[in-house]
Amino acid sequence: MIALVDVHAHLARQEVFSKASELIKDALENNVKVIVVSIQNDIELRNGLELRKIYSTITYLSIGQELSDFTIHTYNMFSKIIPRLVEERHVIAIGEVGLDYSKIRDNILRDIARAIFEKWVELSKKLDIPIIVHSHRAYNDVLTILEKYDVKKVVLHAYSGGTETAKRAVDRGYYFSIPPSIMHSKQKQKLVSVVPLENMLLESDTPELGPVFGQESKPSHVKIVAEKIAEIKKKSLEEVAYVTTRNFERLFNMKILD
Ligand SMILES: [Zn+2]
Repeated sequence: MIALVDVHAHLARQEVFSKASELIKDALENNVKVIVVSIQNDIELRNGLELRKIYSTITYLSIGQELSDFTIHTYNMFSKIIPRLVEERHVIAIGEVGLDYSKIRDNILRDIARAIFEKWVELSKKLDIPIIVHSHRAYNDVLTILEKYDVKKVVLHAYSGGTETAKRAVDRGYYFSIPPSIMHSKQKQKLVSVVPLENMLLESDTPELGPVFGQESKPSHVKIVAEKIAEIKKKSLEEVAYVTTRNFERLFNMKILD
C-alpha cells in the first residue's frame, strides 16, 4: 500500500490531544505517513510542539486562528514566532484561516474577518508556504483576496461551494483536501467528480466531518476517503494514493514516496 497523507487534523485540540498517540498509531497501521496538525491558539501550539518532539517525522504543524476569533491578537502573537518555526520545520503551512459568512452576518465583523484573513494570506506569501483555507458562503471574497496577493500554494479544506467556483480554483492550480464526510455528502461527491485528481489532497479534519454523520473522524479515515475517490473517479486505490501523496510532496516540498 502506498503512503497516505492527512493534510488537516486537529490533534492538538485539548479534547483530542489526550488520545493523539492512539490516533497516530492507528494512522500508521493504515499507512498514513504524514499528518498536518492544525493549530488555532497558544495551548494548541504547545500541544502541537509536544507532538513534534515525539513524532517528528509524522506530525507537522499548520498555524492559523479560529474563524470565530475576530481579534488581530492571535495573528500578532503567532506571526512573530512563525518564521522561526518554519525555519525549524515545525510549521509547514498557514492555516486554517478563512471566512465563514454563514456564522457572521454583521458587515463590520465581516470587514474585520477579511482584514485578518488578508494578513495571513500576506504572511503565507512572504514565507512562501502553503495556506490552508476554510471558507463557507464566502468563496468569492476568498478567491478575490487570494488573487490580490497572487498566492499560488493554496489548499481549500472541506470545500463547501459550488462546482463553477471550484473550476475557477482548479484553473488557478489550487488544491482541494477531501474529508471523510464524502461518504455521505452529495456535495463532496460532486466536487470529486469535477476536480482532477491532480488537484486533490486527503484530509481527516479530526474530530470533525466523520464518515458517518455525528461520528468523530480520525487520521486513518483518509484511507476510506481515498477509496471513495477511487470509486467516483473509476481509478485504483493505488493510483489515488500515489497521486494525492505526490501532490502533497510537490506543494509542501517534502519527500515521502521512494
Ligand atoms: Zn479544521
